[in-house]
Amino acid sequence: MRFSVLALLLALACSPAFAQTYSGPIIDVHLHVGPAAPGAPNPATGQPTTANSDAERERLTLERMRRHGIVLGLVSGPDAAMASMRRAGGDNTIWAGAFLDDGRTPLPPVEMLRKAFINGELKVMGEIGAQYHGLNPSDAWFEPYLALAEELDIPVGIHTGLAPPGTPYGCCPGFSVDLGNPMRLEPMLKRHPKLRVWLMHAGWPYLQETKAILYMYPQVHADLSVINWIIPRQEFHDYLQALITAGMGDRLMFGSDQMVWPEAITQAVEGIDSAAFLGPAQKRAIFHDNAARFLRIDR
Ligand SMILES: [Zn+2]
Repeated sequence: MRFSVLALLLALACSPAFAQTYSGPIIDVHLHVGPAAPGAPNPATGQPTTANSDAERERLTLERMRRHGIVLGLVSGPDAAMASMRRAGGDNTIWAGAFLDDGRTPLPPVEMLRKAFINGELKVMGEIGAQYHGLNPSDAWFEPYLALAEELDIPVGIHTGLAPPGTPYGCCPGFSVDLGNPMRLEPMLKRHPKLRVWLMHAGWPYLQETKAILYMYPQVHADLSVINWIIPRQEFHDYLQALITAGMGDRLMFGSDQMVWPEAITQAVEGIDSAAFLGPAQKRAIFHDNAARFLRIDR
């Protein structure tokens, strides 16, 4: 009897099934759109992606959003893919972001972005992957864009922390670990006190630096994307708990960083939902309320 109870407990502990306990609305502040990568192995599971065409990537992403109660997703990627996603998901559900990607460094001309923000084509600036191009977000190249974002009150999401292992030997020789340190943002935060900025990937693994920036600059928020599903779960929970303990529970926002793996949205939700140290109100804040306030859609 004792053995069978133990076996049952072990079976439960090892069960791969995930039953979501949080049932409220979710805002995903970090999604990507663009070409599919058929067969690409999910970095967390090693299993091939569930999306084997561009259309499937879009359809399955929207399906996962509905499954988890994601009422708003902020997407970035090629213009045509963002437009397609907005048509498929609706303008209230999908917001497009100005994307700093490999093809256009640093960003489209400022006046082009100004028009797109004013007519609502674009709602946020990000993901800004300056680190991948060897660019410091506090340097002069970014100033005209930050001035525009501050003038129009557009939120700016900047990639911080790390990238897939080996990135400097692959796509992006300009990439350096040091450029992902959230401390790099301090000069521009001082120059633009009214700018709404969020640290994408919450600066992991720069815990002390992330705490310091969030503490000193109360307007800054952070998203928990990618670290909530790619890095070891215990490492993510330790990091999240440290930020909560430091008093940052009202500044953290849910993001998945779904790239070419729609199932990653489920993994990302599970990463937060499985944190036993979070109470229902804390989960609600991270999954929805903090982003609703930061994005000013709670008014
Ligand atoms: Zn990123």
